[in-house]
Amino acid sequence: MYFLERVMAVPRLPEKLSRLEELSKNLWWSWNYHAQQMFKYIDPEMWYQEKRSPVRLLRRVRQTRLYELAEDKEFIKMYENTVKEFDKYMGGKDTWMEREHPDRKEQCIAYFCAEYGFHESFPIYSGGLGILAGDHLKTASDMGLNFVAVGLLYRNGYFEQRIDESGWQQNIYHSYEFEDFPVVPALDKAGDEVFVNIDFPGRKVWAKIWKAEIGRTSLYLLDTDIPQNEPEDRKITGTLYGGDRETRIQQEILLGIGGVRALRMLGYSPNAWHMNEGHAAFLSLERIRELVQKNSIEFSTASMIVKSGNVFTTHTPVPAGNDTFTLDMIDKYFRDFWSKMHADRDEFLNLGIEKPQGSGQHFSMTVLALRLSALANGVSKLHGRVSRNLWNHIYPDLPAVEVPITHVTNGVHIWTWLNPNLVELLDKYLPEGWHERVYEPEIWEGIDKIPESEIWELHMSLKSRARGFLQGRLKRQRMRLGETIEDLLEVEEALPEDVLTIGFARRFATYKRATLIFKDINRLKSIIANSERPVQFVFAGKAHPADDPGKELIRKLYEISRTPEFKSRVIIVENYDMNIARHLVSGVDIWLNTPRRPHEASGTSGEKAGMNGVLNFSVLDGWWVEGFNGEN
Ligand SMILES: *Cc1c(COP(=O)(O)O)cnc(C)c1O
Repeated sequence: MYFLERVMAVPRLPEKLSRLEELSKNLWWSWNYHAQQMFKYIDPEMWYQEKRSPVRLLRRVRQTRLYELAEDKEFIKMYENTVKEFDKYMGGKDTWMEREHPDRKEQCIAYFCAEYGFHESFPIYSGGLGILAGDHLKTASDMGLNFVAVGLLYRNGYFEQRIDESGWQQNIYHSYEFEDFPVVPALDKAGDEVFVNIDFPGRKVWAKIWKAEIGRTSLYLLDTDIPQNEPEDRKITGTLYGGDRETRIQQEILLGIGGVRALRMLGYSPNAWHMNEGHAAFLSLERIRELVQKNSIEFSTASMIVKSGNVFTTHTPVPAGNDTFTLDMIDKYFRDFWSKMHADRDEFLNLGIEKPQGSGQHFSMTVLALRLSALANGVSKLHGRVSRNLWNHIYPDLPAVEVPITHVTNGVHIWTWLNPNLVELLDKYLPEGWHERVYEPEIWEGIDKIPESEIWELHMSLKSRARGFLQGRLKRQRMRLGETIEDLLEVEEALPEDVLTIGFARRFATYKRATLIFKDINRLKSIIANSERPVQFVFAGKAHPADDPGKELIRKLYEISRTPEFKSRVIIVENYDMNIARHLVSGVDIWLNTPRRPHEASGTSGEKAGMNGVLNFSVLDGWWVEGFNGEN
């Protein structure tokens, strides 16, 4: 089997279909429904088997099928229309940037993040942060921003979640072939593959640079799993948020310092540098070093210059989300670096130390990012305020209201999260060309013209689709656990469409309180069993592999879902990903959100639900403080 895998012959595309490869490698398809339908037509069964990934599909489709398609008039029409749509998009001149800021369109924005969520078949994301970063890149492409992004390419991605028969989360890691991802090796001007190296204690670590295309936006990803490295170093980019503190600092050095070097080798000179969360904050150190060594500028001046071009977004007030390192660790990895910045140890440590004196000192990535950014923001109005208080001690001379942290409330990429059938309905009632003008409030007045019956009919059809999808998942889950025929048959009856369905899906971080709704369990029992207005729940979500309290929440939910009173009313599906998310946010009736205020910095899943006509039932935290208008 292994041997067969290795010699797997990649099918060759017939001349008439030569652009399929290019279409499969540009993640534009991940938000273009026509492109997805076209790829699915190639082999519907394989499409689902291969996680709806055009790249995986084209590597495995039968050669004879491709010859068939080249003669299939219906397919050729879909193909040609998709190519036309793609070319129009890629060449698009009528973008927000062209309309609003044509004078600034040459100015380049570099965007750094440790995770990106574009599609379920490209598992280099864990949760909200990554999905936001993916949505930012897609939106930057739509708006025509001059954007370039940097991240890491993880050989084992983020884990696949299985829930065992006791309800405990199992973390399954796969070793992916990058040929199955929508990436290609990045090439420099001479056409050669690009590698960067970084001095680690006693050795150099090399990274190969890969390129992913997201519409008009490019993302460069660093990968240490290459023969130039020692076996241990090949694992640095193994798993997202895996390993210990040392793995984490190595990954962050790679992302920040290696990322700047990669952009330089590729010829970029960004005007603004965006650190999406503190993981990327080391990028400033490399830029200071560049100025000191190449332009002979002194450390303090170089720091000011670097700061003036930096933007930082902080994403959570929860301590686990704010990386810190011991000073020993910083000494180990940076003792040769600070002299290259013409700084001494104290000057260097002062960039990231929270408290200037005393014991318990550590080096904080959030502090480093704040000290070296001209602009910093939280991700909702409330989170901006919370962050100003939380980080006030970094600015001891300022009252909290003057702490220079503002907010930009998180959003979502419409074409990724708005259900295509809903887009079709809106096409009927909104003005022509609304797709390009979604930022204009007037566009949305047309909403009121849609008859309620049409909205309801569509909602019920999406609910039915979600039901079918979830039943399929549940059946697979139960077969794997070797459950009885009776248990399997139960799935057929699960999630009846005439019962009010409440969805809850997100990471199982404890502050999100997935089990809060079960606090008064007897009251809940009487609510769900109400003979006239019954209620049911669907849950999904992964706990971080090291978060046992989070896994405990999953176990508790699982247990409840197997009790006689709840088993037909509480469903938990494993391996939450963007695919499950899309089905849930458009196919339940109510979206439940119960974080401990003010710990949910923004949250975005409720926005996805809202735009699909699903009602939010939420604690007034994060984005919902701004989203709730007293009536919705
Ligand atoms: C949107 C999304 C999230 C973020 O959900 P929150 O409720 O905002 O935490 C996490 N995971 C996936 C797969 C998502 O699609």
